[in-house]
Amino acid sequence: MITILALFLALTTTRADSVDVLIKGGLVYDGSGKPGVVTDVGLRGERIVFIGDAAKAQVKAGRIVDATGLIVTPGFIDPHTHSMEGVDRFSAERRKNIPALMQGVTTVTNSPDGRGPWDVARIQRETELKGLGTNTFAMVGFGTLRSLVLGASSAPASKAQIDSMRKLVDNAMREGAFGVGGGLFYAPQSYASTEEVIAVVSAAKPYGGVYDSHQRDESSYTIGLMNSTREAIRIGRESGLITNIGHVKALGVDVWGYADSVLRLMREERAAGHMVVADQYPWTASGTGLSAALLPRWAQAGGRDSLQARIANPATRDRILVEMRDNLRRRGGDSTLLLINGGANAKPYIGKYLKQVAAEMQMPPSETALELIRRGIDMGVASFNMTEADVETFMKDPYVMTSSDGSGGHPRLYGTYPRKIRRYVLDKPVITMERFVQSASAQVADVYGIKERGWLKPGYYADVTVFDPKTIREAATYVEPEKLSIGVRWVFVNGQAAVAEGQPTGVMAGKGLRKR
Ligand SMILES: [Zn+2]
Repeated sequence: MITILALFLALTTTRADSVDVLIKGGLVYDGSGKPGVVTDVGLRGERIVFIGDAAKAQVKAGRIVDATGLIVTPGFIDPHTHSMEGVDRFSAERRKNIPALMQGVTTVTNSPDGRGPWDVARIQRETELKGLGTNTFAMVGFGTLRSLVLGASSAPASKAQIDSMRKLVDNAMREGAFGVGGGLFYAPQSYASTEEVIAVVSAAKPYGGVYDSHQRDESSYTIGLMNSTREAIRIGRESGLITNIGHVKALGVDVWGYADSVLRLMREERAAGHMVVADQYPWTASGTGLSAALLPRWAQAGGRDSLQARIANPATRDRILVEMRDNLRRRGGDSTLLLINGGANAKPYIGKYLKQVAAEMQMPPSETALELIRRGIDMGVASFNMTEADVETFMKDPYVMTSSDGSGGHPRLYGTYPRKIRRYVLDKPVITMERFVQSASAQVADVYGIKERGWLKPGYYADVTVFDPKTIREAATYVEPEKLSIGVRWVFVNGQAAVAEGQPTGVMAGKGLRKR
């Protein structure tokens, strides 16, 4: 009896005073946007259980991480990345998501730009069982649903088709999606009218959440940046969802200098009672596909075969080329389009600007691009089309969060978060460290409704990042985009060390999150 009592006492006192991991003496930013304080953070099991002076509280630690001189933050949450897009088909190595972990990122979306799974519960359950390096969360993609119901058709959706899409939204929301994603810039989503999108997206209203938008026009392609921003705002407002302008930017010479105007639209809408936010990556080059960047959308209607037929027909081919020339001008010309990745047949062109390839092929640049597309070499491109001034203006806004838009071939997949810290917080202080941390963690969790993550708070999940402000930086470049970032020392995902002493451990402690 006495032994049992002693054991009971021992257990309870151990629980109160001991932690599995004590992160000791770091400069701790909790995500609130308040300046950092030097203190200790204790983790037990999956949770943060202690924040304060561990010596004073006589906390016993299984393992001590000496964080003297280091910065301790909530694990970053990336609301717009392609790093886990298609995760159900990934190898174990890719599911580890080491490029994200080595930036201090512990949670990512798996469904950007209106794509991603429609059967959210299955993907989240299966990938969690197989193992994930980071937590993932899903948005149900308008593009996914429109393709399921209408294929690549450019026709407006009928009443019955809208109902089918609404049922799929409702189902995905019940299965734990955090909102609806849209990518109206891309075919076939581009064929949907604003009213059609609202009719579909509003099925998520009873569940709340976010309408996340790769908007119809970030430039002057179709309706223009300002009208496109108004459209994204309206879709969220009339659907009853928060609007998030994904990877906000002013793309191309026609809209340079418009960052202030976009932010003003957002501010006015918030003042009228509808929450509008944005996320942003800290680079002046966007990343997309050659056809998405240059082809007019009417040329893509009906899919690949219809496109080939239009290229083969001299009359439509000429019309396509006229518009491609203008799209290239808009983006800054052939010396701003860097070909960065693609299949085996793309190899000879990788790392070259379109200007160079055009010279080699002895064709004008737009014809060169069309020829590559015709041959089925639809490459990824880095398109240098933003100004540093617009990037900084967006960054300073308190409603602009951090994201990577991470995609293959662009250094943002490996380098975004350390780059933002190095370049925009430490070297040239555009924003403060506390604002950076908030924009990359707590603010994203709060906007998306990701519960018990994104803040350093006792009781919250132990997603924690520890980095060295002296060494942190990105190593990836446009020439060598697949280089892991430097300076992140420790990353805990659900209490387990996924990065230890600056090295990835291979631990897959991530979860497939579902909205509650
Ligand atoms: Zn996008």
